[in-house]
Amino acid sequence: MKKFYYITCIATLAIIGLQLFYIHSLYVNYCSVLHQKAEEALVLSLDKEFSLRKGKRPSDKSGEAVLQIESFHLDLDGARDRMPGASTGDVLQQIRQDFAMERGLTLELSLLDSIYSSAIKGLFDYSLILYDRNKQPVEVAGAADTLSADFSSVLHPIGTHGYQYIQVKTSVLLSPFIREEAWALFLSVAFMAIACITLLFQFIVIRRKTRLLNKQEESVNGTIHDLKAPLNSAITVMSYLAMTVKEQSVQEIVRLSSQNLKHLVSNIDSLLIMARRNRKKLVLNRTEVNIRTLVEQVKTELDILYQEKPHQIIIVPPADTPILAYVDYMYMENVLRNLMENAIKYADDNVKVTVDATVDNHSLHLSVSDNGWGISPSDLKKIFEPFFQVPQEHNLPKKGYGIGLTQAKYIVEEHGGRIGVQSERRKGSCFTIIIPC
Ligand code: ADP
Repeated sequence: MKKFYYITCIATLAIIGLQLFYIHSLYVNYCSVLHQKAEEALVLSLDKEFSLRKGKRPSDKSGEAVLQIESFHLDLDGARDRMPGASTGDVLQQIRQDFAMERGLTLELSLLDSIYSSAIKGLFDYSLILYDRNKQPVEVAGAADTLSADFSSVLHPIGTHGYQYIQVKTSVLLSPFIREEAWALFLSVAFMAIACITLLFQFIVIRRKTRLLNKQEESVNGTIHDLKAPLNSAITVMSYLAMTVKEQSVQEIVRLSSQNLKHLVSNIDSLLIMARRNRKKLVLNRTEVNIRTLVEQVKTELDILYQEKPHQIIIVPPADTPILAYVDYMYMENVLRNLMENAIKYADDNVKVTVDATVDNHSLHLSVSDNGWGISPSDLKKIFEPFFQVPQEHNLPKKGYGIGLTQAKYIVEEHGGRIGVQSERRKGSCFTIIIPC
């Protein structure tokens, strides 16, 4: 369930991220177009301002002669040298500026400001800055804060002598951007909102369903647990009967029934362990356990349970060698029973099961190997997953629920250990366990 949460969250975040990236690209694109417009508008406005300035009579202000182009000495080569790389048109334009400036008609910033302002039609805030020959600002017009401007144009020279320069600095306004890209922005925001609402809705539904499922699970687990009490009483009665009944054949029936009941109780325990697996940590009651005795006990039970199926269980450590490990007796019995029973179940008749156990370097090493059907490499990756069962050949009836190995892995890992398997089709399998103890 957690995985599902993460995947949905990541997918939603990816959608939101992509949309934000899209909006950002729109904005960047809008800004670059605007910056280009700011430059172009400045060049055009300079032209216009020059035309208007040229029409004025300097004598009106200073009493000098009327502006006359004939009296101006046209030094085109010198101007070209002073403006390397500029086109002839630009050079001529700047020569005209020289001509006007020489006659006292210098650039009028307020006039340029009003021309520029009507050219850009309120698309952005700007400042026009006039610089002197040392490129020091001498006059500023316009509304933008020159320090926080997001774009500064190059310094445009006025005339070829570098007596004056003009520069525009702009701050992009959000409202024209929103107006221009209204539809794209609306669709993007709507898309993000839909993704968020869907995610929220899914979370609410999942939470409700999880709560319901937990309640159902708890009641099923409670019922399963309650089944154990009558079964245990029946086992006790059976044991009593087995001791008191004299007749051999009845004794055998009672013993078999008792073993089947124990098997049922152990299946119930498995189901309860599985139910606890996702929620709580296993509470281990570690004691010193003789693994050799434990293996023998499981062997005895399985020999009775599988007396119809010829098999052989070999316990490697000699009978008089205690293999002492600090583990939970009940859970370890469960693990051993799962592995040893699987070895008999998933094999033809006359299977040979070998159980080996040693303790060294403060670790219990346990292995259960068989010469049964074996498991293919592709199935081997999945056998510890809950409810996974290897598809059997010839549609043989299923022999379990696919929880034994999941449960064994869980118990071993709760002991701080690890479980592994090696197997080959039609050759057999070997399950190994290492538990620090
Ligand atoms: P089940 O309750 O079905 O036995 P397990 O989790 O114990 O579930 O095992 C999962 C699957 O792994 C089984 O269905 C079986 O096909 C395969 N398996 C387990 N142990 C062995 C083995 N010793 N030899 C061959 N196959 C095995």
